[in-house]
Amino acid sequence: MGKQVSSEILQMITDFSNAKGPSGFEDEVILAAKKHLGSGFDTEEDCLRNFYMHRKANTGNKPVFLLDAHSDEVGFMVHSIRANGTLRFVALGGWNISSLPSTKVLVRNAEGRYIPGIIAAKPVHFMSASEKASAGPADISTLSIDIGAVDAQEAKEVFKIRIGEPVVADVSLEYDAEHDLLFGKAFDCRIGCAALLETLHRLKDEALDVDVTGVLSSQEEVGERGMKVAVHHTKPDIAICFEGCPADDTFTEAYAVQTAFKKGPMLRFMDKSIICTPRYQRYALDLAERLGIPVQSSVREGGGNNGAILHTSFDGIPTIVIGVPVRYIHTVHGITSCYDFEATVRLATELVRSMNQDIIDSF
Ligand SMILES: [Zn+2]
Repeated sequence: MGKQVSSEILQMITDFSNAKGPSGFEDEVILAAKKHLGSGFDTEEDCLRNFYMHRKANTGNKPVFLLDAHSDEVGFMVHSIRANGTLRFVALGGWNISSLPSTKVLVRNAEGRYIPGIIAAKPVHFMSASEKASAGPADISTLSIDIGAVDAQEAKEVFKIRIGEPVVADVSLEYDAEHDLLFGKAFDCRIGCAALLETLHRLKDEALDVDVTGVLSSQEEVGERGMKVAVHHTKPDIAICFEGCPADDTFTEAYAVQTAFKKGPMLRFMDKSIICTPRYQRYALDLAERLGIPVQSSVREGGGNNGAILHTSFDGIPTIVIGVPVRYIHTVHGITSCYDFEATVRLATELVRSMNQDIIDSF
């Protein structure tokens, strides 16, 4: 496997991954999209921070093919300031709580600047025998973010901390050129955001039997809230949800591995929120096989995604989910591969090229 992506795409993935955008605070993700979208699209933004991208080549009288990726990442919000100057916080989205202590974070202050902090881990010197034996904290309310203040007054007056402000993991993307790998945060779903924009780039000027609209939808991690609005705004006839999805190949017995690294995008038959439109799912898998695009499929026992909203909206919208496998999503550090990214873009691009009203009606 040689290099799979250009330096322009690498920069786009880097900017998306590094953007600080926990649920509800997706502004920097939209800035990254504006930087990399290029010409050929009309854009709009709503008050939920959904960001819409319409091809200028759209006609207005063809079925609407919606490409979705959620822009938010799992993060935190400042809940209160303790007397000792540390911050109590709540989760925005689902975290593995025991993975959090000793994480570097950035806390937005009242001046809009992100300042450094650490999710405190108790030194071993102060731990009781039962604390040493436990699997770690079970309740996020027992954790603290330490910004280095000496008391609550200094946290408020000098550090300008206030409640309700977002907190995000302090991680910058690293590209391992030798192995064509990406190490970073927020690949759920920023690798999907990058795949969406790259798909739009490749389809920009093509004559198609569908009109193509992209949306970077907000607040997926707190219950698909952006999509609840975006589906009404775009009224799609068919949809793809891009995702950064959890790779299972380092946890799962070999016979049950369904989302391996470097085996192509994963198309789920179902998760807890959706049975992906079965005829459409089969069509996509068959197309991938016919074109020699690596692809995987899975039956997920957990999880959920924006397709939950899409497939049950209006009269029902055919929906599939194309996920780029990411190791260790919903923790601070993830790994994803350029190989899977490129295969994801190829499959989505070919699906849009192949689509027309008759095929949509057959789903
Ligand atoms: Zn996601």
